[in-house]
Amino acid sequence: MIVKQIWTGNNYRNFNYLIACGETGEALAVDPLDHEKCLKAAREEGWTITQILNTHEHRDHTGGNEPMVRSTGARILAHKNAKDKIPGMAQGLGAGDVVKVGRTVELEVLDTPGHTMSHVCLLSHTDQPALFCGDTLFNAGAGNCHSGGHPGELYKTFSEQLARLPASTLIYPGHDYIENNLRFTLNREPDNGQAKRMLDRLAGQDPNAAYVSTLAVEREINTFLRLTSPTVIAKLREVFPNLPENPDPRTVFLKLRELRNNW
Ligand SMILES: [Zn+2]
Repeated sequence: MIVKQIWTGNNYRNFNYLIACGETGEALAVDPLDHEKCLKAAREEGWTITQILNTHEHRDHTGGNEPMVRSTGARILAHKNAKDKIPGMAQGLGAGDVVKVGRTVELEVLDTPGHTMSHVCLLSHTDQPALFCGDTLFNAGAGNCHSGGHPGELYKTFSEQLARLPASTLIYPGHDYIENNLRFTLNREPDNGQAKRMLDRLAGQDPNAAYVSTLAVEREINTFLRLTSPTVIAKLREVFPNLPENPDPRTVFLKLRELRNNW
């Protein structure tokens, strides 16, 4: 499996991806909003784009579908419940489905509601797994829920699915938000030395050669994966004085999601 992360340079800071089979040169494009950059990258590598995967139905993820299909004839795959929202879908996906690319690549579909209710992530079947997580998990952050999502469902996705993935899993999110998100982490957990060091290192990084984290790193720098941190809870109590003594992780997650919305 060969992964190419493509920085769109747009205001929404989208990342697009090409996932290719090294043997056949067939490639799958994840959320190819910047279809021109994706096509150019595929041409340069000698790859043929045969499939498009939309992680969810938002326009900044699906907006490149039509020109991409016109250029390549690629089939569009997305969550089965997105059929009414994504024109031209060829295949609806559900939890446990496996998307194949060429001869060597297998991508397992995770049904990951929360950011929207028809969102999928892809998990590669490789020695070091890779997670293409759209707008569910970001570097040092979590997706918002205000365009068709649900914070309680997002928490369930984090706690029941993402939490079970191997620590070595590479994280490929749908947007480059790392700098802003690390500032939020430090706002919520000022004594998080790892987040501080990472912000010093990555502030102003070139998104064309962006840092790729792992789940192990996210567990150290992502507030939404640090729901039992004493500092996170103490700081949260300053804002929500009625927070119970040992708040359950779901409550902490929902309060953090609320604070992040207004931050
Ligand atoms: Zn979105």
